[in-house]
Amino acid sequence: KLSQRLQSVAGYIPEGSSIADIGSDHAYLPCHVVKKGRVPFAIAGEVVEGPFQSAKKQVESEELTNQIDVRKGDGLAVLSPGEVDCITIAGMGGALIASILEQGLDKLEGVTRLILQPNLSAQSIRVWLIDHEWQLIAEEILEEDGKIYEILVAEKGEPHRPYNQEKIHSELLMGPFLSSKKTEPFVKKWKSEMKNWMRILSKLEQAADTEDNRQKKEELQNKLRMVEEVLD
Ligand code: SAM
Repeated sequence: KLSQRLQSVAGYIPEGSSIADIGSDHAYLPCHVVKKGRVPFAIAGEVVEGPFQSAKKQVESEELTNQIDVRKGDGLAVLSPGEVDCITIAGMGGALIASILEQGLDKLEGVTRLILQPNLSAQSIRVWLIDHEWQLIAEEILEEDGKIYEILVAEKGEPHRPYNQEKIHSELLMGPFLSSKKTEPFVKKWKSEMKNWMRILSKLEQAADTEDNRQKKEELQNKLRMVEEVLD
C-alpha cells in the first residue's frame, strides 16, 4: 500500500495529465496513479542503478510497461521538452530538489504543475519558485510514522501572490498556506525546531564569545522570535 505521504502527493496530480516522477526509487507513485487510471502515461526517473532496477522490476511486475517508462539519468535530463504536464519530486532535501529544477530549466517548458515533497528545507524550494516565477498554489503538512512531511504545489503564475510581504521571512521559512492554517503537525514541527535551536543557543552561550558565535546567536534568536510569533 502506498504511504500516506505519497498518496497526498498523488492527490495533487491533475486527472489525465502525464507525469514524470524524478527520484522514483520503486516507481510506487507512478504505478499507483496509472493503476487508478488517473494518469495515462508516466516517466519514472532514477539516477542510481539499484533504485532504477527496483523501479523497472516494479513496473514490469505490475504489467505497466506500456504506460510507464523507467529511465536512468540525473534529474530532468531523462525528459524531452514538452513530454509531461506535471513533475513530482518527493523524498529528498529541498536544496537538492531546487538544484534538480535549476539544472533542468529547459525541460520545464510546457510543464504546468510541480508537486514537490522536501524532507527538509522547504524554504529552498519556496525561494527557487519565486525566483523562477512559479506560484505556490497549495501546501500540505502531514505526519506519518513519527515523521513530518511538507508538500508544495506550484503552477506558473504570480510568484508573490500567496505571500504577505510584511511576513515574507517567516512565510518563506514556514510556508504562507501552512502558517495561516497552523495544523497540528505544523505546530509540532516548529516547536521541535525551536527546541533544537534553543539547545544550540545554550551551547553557543557556553562557548567562547567570538564575533562568529555572536552572529550565530543573533540569527538563532531572530528565528526563534519569528517562529514564536507565527505559533502564537
Ligand atoms: N520519490 C520516492 C519517495 O518519495 O518515496 C523515493 C525517495 S528516495 C529517498 C530518493 C531517490 O531519489 C533515491 O532513489 C535517489 O537515488 C534519487 N535521486 C537523488 N538524486 C537524484 C537525481 N539528481 N536524479 C534522479 N534521482 C535522484
